[in-house]
Amino acid sequence: MNETAEPDQSGSAVFIWSSRTKIRYYEITVNNTFLLRGGRVIDPASGFDATADVLISAGVICEISKKPGKLSASAGGTLIECEGRLVVPGLIDPHVHLREPGAEHKETIATGAAAAVAGGFTSVCCMPNTTPTIDLPSTVEFVQMRAAASRKARVFVAGAATVGRAGEQLAPMGAMSQVGAVAFTDDGDCIASAGMMGKVLAVCASLDKVFMQHCQDPTLTMGGVMNSGVISARLGLGGWPAVAEEVIIERDIRLNRGHRCRYHVQHMTTCGGVDIVRRARADGQRVTAEASPHHLLLTEEACNNYNTQAKVNPPLRTDEDIRALIEGIVDGTITVLATDHAPHASAEKARDFTAAPFGMIGLECAFALYAKALVESGAIDWPRLIALLTIEPARLLGIDSIGHGQIAQGIPADVTVIDTNATWKIDSETFQSKSRNCPFDGWQVRGRATDVFVAGRHVLIGGALPATPTITAHASFNVL
Ligand SMILES: [Zn+2]
Repeated sequence: MNETAEPDQSGSAVFIWSSRTKIRYYEITVNNTFLLRGGRVIDPASGFDATADVLISAGVICEISKKPGKLSASAGGTLIECEGRLVVPGLIDPHVHLREPGAEHKETIATGAAAAVAGGFTSVCCMPNTTPTIDLPSTVEFVQMRAAASRKARVFVAGAATVGRAGEQLAPMGAMSQVGAVAFTDDGDCIASAGMMGKVLAVCASLDKVFMQHCQDPTLTMGGVMNSGVISARLGLGGWPAVAEEVIIERDIRLNRGHRCRYHVQHMTTCGGVDIVRRARADGQRVTAEASPHHLLLTEEACNNYNTQAKVNPPLRTDEDIRALIEGIVDGTITVLATDHAPHASAEKARDFTAAPFGMIGLECAFALYAKALVESGAIDWPRLIALLTIEPARLLGIDSIGHGQIAQGIPADVTVIDTNATWKIDSETFQSKSRNCPFDGWQVRGRATDVFVAGRHVLIGGALPATPTITAHASFNVL
């Protein structure tokens, strides 16, 4: 069933409901044509990795050719020289907080979707810890409509598993699933009760939706604001022990043995957590895990001087934990990267360490930070990094079945072009996000998206967002 929405001036805009995949999504078809010439095209899903030309027309990838000059531009089309750059599937971030509805002073769906595009992401999945909570089909639809109106990145929705994320009563997950929720989570809070957790896993298994857990036993973190250790003791701040994460992962994996739900550990931070997930995966359990840029690059020492920009949930840990996370990425225990983009107003972060909110923004500098932690360090190569940012999160969210996370002929043209040699200084004042809470401000980094296409729309042009969407006349390329 296709339900037509308001027409887009550069083509047609429709809501598409796929009864096969149970995913409802917004698709804009544009008539523009682009030739991305001479880049290193990496498609981890198929193993393609070669210098090639990519032709985009009418919103889809028309052709990929390894023969130089086979595809050529004719009048009206846009030629983009990609020599020396990566041409990859649009990046996907499965864990962001867009704050709308309810905290639009921190971020809106439109500013968050713009921040995503600026960072090279064509799709994000937003968390339900808004006000009101995203725990009803109508709220899922509200987010979808706002995202469609922003005409930037695609925004997929994770619905809450329990009403108000209170952990007491199941939310209508089936109904949210019907209107397109791609995952369920009470992120921001853990489902603390084992009994409730078992029910949630059973429902998610029946819907074939992933459950994403914020792993934090609340009875172990009361008053905790940073990693529990020597530094928290010296600063006189409440400690948050690693075991608070580990006992939940262990418990959930045991609970899930009977349900075989797809279970995902959000923002994993500890050595012990990596070990538990590694063993469970070896045992054939359906468990995946993600790591965030700050947990790969910063330790608890960043909290020295009561720096609230380093206050995050779960907290920054130790060098040993960072090494374990990187080992987990190298050996395939951790298959997904996620920013946990968490905007907060400057006045909120200016409170003292105990009162300031948890979280930091991440979308606009994430790629360079992942590259620094994982590729520049020699841990993994570009194709694996791209997999962790494209096909792996697409599979997690079940959106690979509608063509996301891949570059292939005939699928929606969500494509990111990256200059891996571009050096730049992180300056949150220049960000599209409404918030500035970035602990990486001032870092000199390498690697940046230069061009981004979402459904064939050129939404990031030479590293800049156009003020209004660019519309060019219908054009064609001659395929020789
Ligand atoms: Zn969380």
